[in-house]
This record gives sequence, C-alpha cells and structure tokens, in this order.
Amino acid sequence: MLKVNNTTVKYSGEVPFTIDPLAQKNYSELNIITHAHSDHIKIAKAGRYNAFIAHKATVDLLKRNYDFDVNFIPYDYNKQIKLNGNKVTLLNAGHILGSASVLVENDKLRYAVTGDINTEATNISKPIKPINDLDFMIIESTYGTEKHQFQKRNEGYKKIKNWVKNTVYNNKLPVIITHKLGKTQEIVREINKETGCYVALPADTIFSNEVYNSHGKKQKNMLPLEELKDADYIILPPSKYSKDMINYISFISGKKLDYTFVTGQDRYHNIRLSSHADYYGLIDFIKESNPKKVYTYHGKSEEFAKAIEKETGIKAQSVSEINLKI
Ligand SMILES: [Zn+2]
Ligand SMILES: [Zn+2]
Repeated sequence: MLKVNNTTVKYSGEVPFTIDPLAQKNYSELNIITHAHSDHIKIAKAGRYNAFIAHKATVDLLKRNYDFDVNFIPYDYNKQIKLNGNKVTLLNAGHILGSASVLVENDKLRYAVTGDINTEATNISKPIKPINDLDFMIIESTYGTEKHQFQKRNEGYKKIKNWVKNTVYNNKLPVIITHKLGKTQEIVREINKETGCYVALPADTIFSNEVYNSHGKKQKNMLPLEELKDADYIILPPSKYSKDMINYISFISGKKLDYTFVTGQDRYHNIRLSSHADYYGLIDFIKESNPKKVYTYHGKSEEFAKAIEKETGIKAQSVSEINLKI
C-alpha cells in the first residue's frame, strides 16, 4: 500500500518507508528526505532514532536545525539502497543543493516520486533528467497551470544584477527578498561572478551558504546582518522582511532602501525566478519520461492532472489523500 498525503508518501509493505514525513505519526523506521526545505521534513525530538536517509548535502543543510542528534544516513545520487524487495535510488532533482527524486524498483513495479524538481540548469545545479520505463510517476505540481511560464534563467539573473546596479547608482541600498535556501545562494553566486559586492544575510542563511561552499558551490563576500553598514546589498527571506527590519536597516546604513522580491509568483515588485519547474518544464519532463501513468501532488494537483492528459495523452490523476494498492 502506498499512501499519499500532501508531500508525504508512505509505503506500508515489507520494510516500510516514508518519503518526506512532516509529522511523527507518519514516520516509518526508515524515512527518505527529498530535500532540506521545511515544508518537506520536520524531525521530532522523540522520533530522532528513526533513520533518515537523504543526500549528503541535504543532511549537512538539515543538521543545524536540530539541537539533538538525528539518525541521518547520508547518501550520494545514483547509489542503490536495498530495502528487502525494494531498491531505492536518489536521483538529482535539480531543485536546490542535495535535492533528490526517489526511484523505487521491485520485481513487479518501477516508479518514482519526484519531490520538488527543476528542469532548467541553474548556476548551482544541473536539471533533473527524464526517468524512463516507469509504471507510474508521482510528480509535484507547484506551478502546474499554464499561466506559470518563466523566463530563461539567465534573463532572470541579468534582471537581478541590473536592478542591484541601478539601485546602487541611485544611492539606495538594494534589498532582495527571496527564499533563504536555493535562490539566495544562486543570487550570491551570480553577483560574486561579476563584482566584489558584499551581501548582508541573516546568520542562519550564512550557515546554509557555507554548506553550499563545502559542496563546491562557491559563496563569498558575505557579512552578518549586524555588519550591514559595510554591505552593498542585502538578501532577506520574506519572513524577516518587516517594517521594523526596514527601519533597522535604514537606521544602521544611513541610506534609503529599495526592494524587490525574487519569487516564482507573478506579483508586484518581483523578478520572476523559481527553484521549481514551470508548467512546460513539468509537461516536457513527463513527455520525455513517458511513464504509463502520472499522479500529481503538492500544488494545484487536480488542474495539473487534467492538463497532463490533454497535453501528453498519458493518464493522470491527482493524489492528495489517496491509497494506491501496490
Ligand atoms: Zn522545495
Ligand atoms: Zn515543496
């Protein structure tokens, strides 16, 4: 039996396992974590002795979240993990550092749970590759509606760099509001390439950037927020961007601010860049993988399932809250 609920997929046959458990009630003895975003994994102190398998970079990113030891089992991509009859393999998902899709193979079936994916190369990660010969695929549907079509990544990078340049030219301090894990590191890396500009970041973001560094994704010229008066620009997660923070930054820097969001949403004051595949990224990935059936989860799954059938001719079904008898 395979039970799917939001981002969690729970297998309850021989050697049960759970992919991305968000609550302790969903833990199996063995758990597989697709990536380090907090909407995919929460480890409860009481459940820390359960085993948590993840890519080694994901383990490094997650460790700092817990002030207790967790039974992590770090793995590399493309190494088969044998769980009795099931063979499980982590594949590069292209979403953020360490992100993995999960391929499961046994005597009868071959299926994949994608987790969050990106089908476009970034300055940090390679895109996910099609996964062939699948009986079924459970795929995320975050941007699974046609209105979500993103510009080329390099266009997005260029817009961000130009915006920073112009803001500095106008004697203002640029503040970029974006996800602290994924896009922040891409932006720092992109600005590092061309300038000697310093960025001020919250302490926990600097920790993540250092993990990226230790996995060969260079990040430099970073300062903690307390030293922002020496910074040329600032990156904050949306949760830290408040009126108090704006006043604090203006006060310490003695400058006026200008801000932009960098998200996948189509919104005001925003440069559109996402760590997720857009609509056609998802559709093309499904076409190239060509599974026998597709299940959609984690996003506008009903709408996306209909779109898949229309665009690819492959049978598709939304699986928020469903039991698959396998
Ligand atoms: Zn994610
Ligand atoms: Zn997600």
